Amino acid sequence: MPGYVHVYTGNGKGKTTAALGLALRAAGAGWRVFIAQFGKGMTSSELESLQRFGDTITVRQFGAPGPVTEARGDLSECIEVLASGDYPLVVLDEATLAPMLEIFSVDDLLTLIDARAENVELVITGRYAHRRIIDRADLVTEMREVKHYYHQGVLARAGIER
Ligand code: ATP
Ligand code: MG
Repeated sequence: MPGYVHVYTGNGKGKTTAALGLALRAAGAGWRVFIAQFGKGMTSSELESLQRFGDTITVRQFGAPGPVTEARGDLSECIEVLASGDYPLVVLDEATLAPMLEIFSVDDLLTLIDARAENVELVITGRYAHRRIIDRADLVTEMREVKHYYHQGVLARAGIER
């Protein structure tokens, strides 16, 4: 069964939670899942939940601000995971922002997409997905903000946004 490339982008809420929902579903089908989260330290509630899955779901953080050499190491680890086919679902959470955060380039992200084994379903989330990433994907969903309480001054809350 071939794997497809998903992109969840846009300003509205739901990109990361959609990817986590898919991870939940895939784990239930007996798939191993690899989740890489880019550009932010994750002390999130989802990490607490995901740890309960043991070896079924692996979560790694990449691209916490640091030297480019470290970023390259991160990239090669992701390439290995994708190429191995050992994780039929791979989530690159907030990877669309990696070029802006100078963790890696759009070309690097395309390299990651191309590196995956045939069976790997790949989900890329984050705002401002680059046109070239969208063009390469098989499924693109744009979460459009109709309303968000962020504009009322409600910041990220544990259990809901983090
Ligand atoms: P979720 O993880 O809830 O599914 P998401 O992945 O779709 O959300 P992200 O783009 O990763 O959303 O950003 C979520 C964070 O951005 C939230 O913590 C939220 O408080 C904040 N946020 C929401 N709307 C805005 C906005 N218009 N401008 C800046 N930050 C916002
Ligand atoms: Mg997100």
